[in-house]
Amino acid sequence: MTKDLNRREVLAAGTAAAGAALVGSSGAKARPVAAAIQRGGSKPTVIASGNGNIYKNGGDETCVERAFRMITEGADVLDAVIAGVNIVELDPEDTSVGFGGLPDADGVVTLDSCCMHGPKKRAGGVACLKGVRMPSLVAQKVADVTDHHLLVDEGAQRFARNMGFDIEDDLNTDRSRALWLEWKRRTDSRHYPRPEDRADAGRKVGLAMVAEGKIDPDHFYGTINCNGVNAEGDVCGVTTTSGLAWKIPGRVGDSPILGAGLYVDNAAGAAGSTGRGEANIYNLASYLIVEKLREGLSPKDAGMAALNRIVDNTIDPRLLGEDGKPNFNVNFYVLDKSGAHAGVALYGGPRRTYAVCTENGAESLPIEGLLGDRS
Ligand code: ASP
Repeated sequence: MTKDLNRREVLAAGTAAAGAALVGSSGAKARPVAAAIQRGGSKPTVIASGNGNIYKNGGDETCVERAFRMITEGADVLDAVIAGVNIVELDPEDTSVGFGGLPDADGVVTLDSCCMHGPKKRAGGVACLKGVRMPSLVAQKVADVTDHHLLVDEGAQRFARNMGFDIEDDLNTDRSRALWLEWKRRTDSRHYPRPEDRADAGRKVGLAMVAEGKIDPDHFYGTINCNGVNAEGDVCGVTTTSGLAWKIPGRVGDSPILGAGLYVDNAAGAAGSTGRGEANIYNLASYLIVEKLREGLSPKDAGMAALNRIVDNTIDPRLLGEDGKPNFNVNFYVLDKSGAHAGVALYGGPRRTYAVCTENGAESLPIEGLLGDRS
């Protein structure tokens, strides 16, 4: 976790960083860091969910590397974090986001996204958007050119078309289509189970496919959230996803909902989420975290406060394991205005990391679990 630096340290770090090279997650790529570091007392920092330091879509930068580079080159922070998540939206290897995201129960890829611009106090979102590979850019347009905060489904698509976005018939890839077919084959067509059956055949089959290694656990639920702050203390964030795999058509998760999948307040910081969206919508946890930052809690403690709220509100037996604890996971990526950050979740574990990029380069850091580790 990062801390505020005093002025002497800031100047020293800025000078060193200006002449230094930024080593990427692969360790292979070096590029100069701009001198525009730590002018305003905030430490330029980008954080993201773990996929923000994995996928490169055939290029040489991950999401956090691109966003950090752009921020230190003077780009608008929201432009930078959105340019970062665009890499993951376009990469068909990440089946939780954008092009190639796992589809809904009818085999249709529908995308959710929202973004918030701290200093401009603007926000925009799209939900259940079909046919546009980079929904985060449409969310940004909603923020910039409309009087609204959220457009959905056909209206969102028509808006995107009017804004000049390409609309494609189908965002499936061979991989996402094959996985959907497999799921379809294994389930019956009942997506509305009887109350006594609420453990949900479809969800069980999906989780079994995860257990069998057919689906990356991070991609059954899966999303990217990316938050950044520049040297002036401008805080922005974006979240983008294909949502829950094989959801009921029309289901919208937390990702496009302000206060749930993302919240930014330029006075305090940003929080975003991946994982079980329903738990997050119910608790508006990203908003809660930013409020806790405002009260002076550290990013980690603010995130843990929201996770405790989720635990308290999870009483439905179908959502509890035999140990009485939630049988799902929710992750939060928390960045305060100074550049301090944390990744927290109900459950941590060796595979659970979040992405960070500072003047020291990109890293994948462990996510801390409120309830311990679970694979
Ligand atoms: N939170 C997203 C949703 O519920 C999915 C995820 O992050 O895994 O749609």
